[in-house]
Amino acid sequence: MTASPRPDRTPMPEQDPKVRATNFDEVPLGYTADLAKREASRCLNCKNPQCVGGCPVNVNIPGFIKLLLEGKPVEAAELIKRTNCLPAVCGRVCPQESQCEDACILNKKGNPVAIGNLERYAADTAAKLSPDLTVTRPASNGRKIAVVGSGPAGLTCAGDLAKLGYAVTVFEAFHIPGGVLSYGIPPFRLPKEIVQREIKELEKYGVKFKLNYVIGKILPPDNLLKNFDAVFLGVGAGLPMFMDIPGENLGGIYTANEFLTRANLMKAYLFPEYDTPLLNGQSMCIIGGGNVALDSARSALRLGAKEVRLVYRRSRAELPARAEESHHAEQEGVIFELLTNPIEYVGDEKGQVKEVVCERMELGEPDASGRRRPVTIPNSRFSIKSDMVIVAIGTSANPLLTSTLPGLKLNKGGYIVSDANGKTSKQRVWAGGDIITGSATVILAMGAGRIAAKDIHETLSHPESPWPQVQDK
Ligand code: FAD
Ligand code: SF4
Repeated sequence: MTASPRPDRTPMPEQDPKVRATNFDEVPLGYTADLAKREASRCLNCKNPQCVGGCPVNVNIPGFIKLLLEGKPVEAAELIKRTNCLPAVCGRVCPQESQCEDACILNKKGNPVAIGNLERYAADTAAKLSPDLTVTRPASNGRKIAVVGSGPAGLTCAGDLAKLGYAVTVFEAFHIPGGVLSYGIPPFRLPKEIVQREIKELEKYGVKFKLNYVIGKILPPDNLLKNFDAVFLGVGAGLPMFMDIPGENLGGIYTANEFLTRANLMKAYLFPEYDTPLLNGQSMCIIGGGNVALDSARSALRLGAKEVRLVYRRSRAELPARAEESHHAEQEGVIFELLTNPIEYVGDEKGQVKEVVCERMELGEPDASGRRRPVTIPNSRFSIKSDMVIVAIGTSANPLLTSTLPGLKLNKGGYIVSDANGKTSKQRVWAGGDIITGSATVILAMGAGRIAAKDIHETLSHPESPWPQVQDK
């Protein structure tokens, strides 16, 4: 008798591409209980689960999948939350295909368990079944921690320390916490209420948020060191980069940061209900090929642009965005101008962009990143008519805070230098996330926040800790 073949991965139900290209509602609709059970039944519950090693915060993946199979989503979510305080976020935006799902044993045949989809199901179902989850707050240990930045690195560090009895205050420059989860990733990929729901849970552990608080402007970071036992810097790397080509200062050329912040966080798509104005072009070019470029392109379509072109200088194989995102973008009608590099913007008599001059590229030898270098094809210039351009070619470290903290060692790019535990050159200051690594991923930032929290705890609670507890002022 031959064993029956393992069922294929359970597809995620999605909004129809034509419909969803006109709204900001979430694209994947989530598994039903039956679909989740079907998918959970594919897991082999391996003795030596490779998937766990592929997860930067080592979620007990077979453990939570088994609980789902037993019909216990609340317990499954609790198990995930032991190592990951943002499961509904990670289930939606983590690049599982290059992490846990890549390592899954079933991926040998190209058919890994849909771990991300199951994580999302567990988190969402648990939140529905027990919306008023109560948590047991640990007894206070009398120590106070300041976390600067409320992105995934800061939130994880704050949550882990609060669960150990520290009084944690998070200082955030924006009016809403969450970092890129709130101001960058659009609601059709990550609904804002999901982010705020997971943040509310951290508040139950006693984490306090001070919003609209730009450390380095409103308060020098040195002041934090006077009032807190330790400081964690999770300020991200959100300073937009430009290509430095002629015409970049013309009207109608936005950075992706500004465009996405206005469109998503400040709800420009609900104008005039929300009074954030946003010009939206009819024929738009988005420069870049990462998640940020794809999010901009898909937001532009939803805001009513007639034609949206993604202009990327390498080929499809090198697109840094998640495969799922480029697939969704294409389904929705984004046009991919691959192997194409903009070299100049041309404006009209009012100083408004009207054309993007480009060159066609081909791939040469690999560069330092290991990817094949794009090389210009001679005499290949052409123009794309475009009344709005979004530049999404990457971001770098913002010196606003780091330049105001004397003694903090930075590298050439302005990123903070730390040891493997996030300890910086400045006593009692730790850091983690994009401000150390440059733009990376949500889960890597969370992993860094977790490592730093552990090191802060070990350092401060060490019997020979050189630092007496900071007294209340
Ligand atoms: P951030 O999330 O950048 O948070 C830093 C926070 O610090 C911000 O809220 C900022 O306002 C605050 N801050 C900065 N300076 C100060 C100051 N001086 N005082 C007070 N507060 C300050 N990753 C994925 O894994 N999957 C994806 O699908 C994905 N899509 C993305 C889409 C977009 C549009 C963008 C921009 C990024 C995306 N990423 C994605 C990358 C991921 O979001 C980041 O790697 C991650 O958010 C970094 O976390 P962080 O905590 O280091 O910083
Ligand atoms: Fe299940 Fe795959 Fe992890 Fe094995 S490697 S426990 S099959 S998810």
